[in-house]
Amino acid sequence: MWQIRPGLEAVKSYHVPDVAWPVKLDANERAEDLPPSVKSALGERLAAVAANRYPEIGQHTLKAALADGLGLTPENIALGNGSSELLAAICRVFGGPGRKIVYPNPSFSMYPIYALLADSQPVTVELDAGFVLAPEKILTVARQEQASLIVISNPNNPTGGMLSTKAVERIVAGADCPVVLDEAYGDFAGQSAFKLLGKYPNLVIARTFSKAYGLAAARVGYIMAGKEIIALVGKMLLPYHLNAFSLAAALVAWELRAEFAPGIAGTVAERERLAAALAAMPTIEVFPSAANFLLIRCGQAKELAAYLAGQGIGVRDFTAAPRLAGCLRVTVGAATENDAFLAATGKFFEI
Ligand SMILES: *Cc1c(COP(=O)(O)O)cnc(C)c1O
Repeated sequence: MWQIRPGLEAVKSYHVPDVAWPVKLDANERAEDLPPSVKSALGERLAAVAANRYPEIGQHTLKAALADGLGLTPENIALGNGSSELLAAICRVFGGPGRKIVYPNPSFSMYPIYALLADSQPVTVELDAGFVLAPEKILTVARQEQASLIVISNPNNPTGGMLSTKAVERIVAGADCPVVLDEAYGDFAGQSAFKLLGKYPNLVIARTFSKAYGLAAARVGYIMAGKEIIALVGKMLLPYHLNAFSLAAALVAWELRAEFAPGIAGTVAERERLAAALAAMPTIEVFPSAANFLLIRCGQAKELAAYLAGQGIGVRDFTAAPRLAGCLRVTVGAATENDAFLAATGKFFEI
């Protein structure tokens, strides 16, 4: 008999269909390729990477650029292969046998997997009706369970809802453990808990280049926190875990981040247009979103997803997920893609 790691039997493999949809509204990616100026700079930088050399061991260049732009020091920043790697590493830092990691439900489906991979027990706190997180509720559960870590996606994937910075502060100030605020979609929200970082040593903010900055292919994310937490997370990461091509790509995107502002503003405008058009359809309920996607609830949701797929439009089907019966998540795409989605949805419901 093979001696497989105890607990691994409880871990589900992450599965999403790998389909090259003509209208791809299923993964919350940036709809368009990179802005042309970024794209051409990226080509030059990638060509200049010394492929025969290991990457910088301390990842100084990107950390210094981020720190400089953010008004932090490089010791306040850790880089990861997507923010995913960092979220998993933080769960290992504060997790372990007997430890409990608390997060809301519904939220990002990877949080329980990170907890289990850290040999920790995932503990969920139900969002209220309308998918709102009550700060007192998560604090109470965290205290009762003597949680070692709280993880909150803000805006929340897949519901789109956003906690105010005041509510975030209540949680961070009231928690006896570190709190990870996953701001993967923060660029679309127009607000961030960033200013709380200096005040609360138990706050960790995670961000990514995968969404607003259009670098999902490169897999680069970062966390910001006090030096102690950053040093602990650093112990969990393997040397050279981020490749030099991805480091170079993220550096270009960061240096030219102003180039992304029009795209982000455009996505926010499209989100509002899409939400209004969907809300006008009598068969559909739309949840408020501060991200680059919308959660909708309707009858025949599974059939709608299948119909859209037949039209080459991919959306994310959450109908089988707890609390999300009848729900689909639609990424805000380019205007033409959103029009195609709206037209097909209207047609399906014969509106
Ligand atoms: C997309 C996403 C991430 C970031 O993923 P990367 O690993 O950085 O690509 C993190 N958290 C949530 C909630 C997400 O939806």
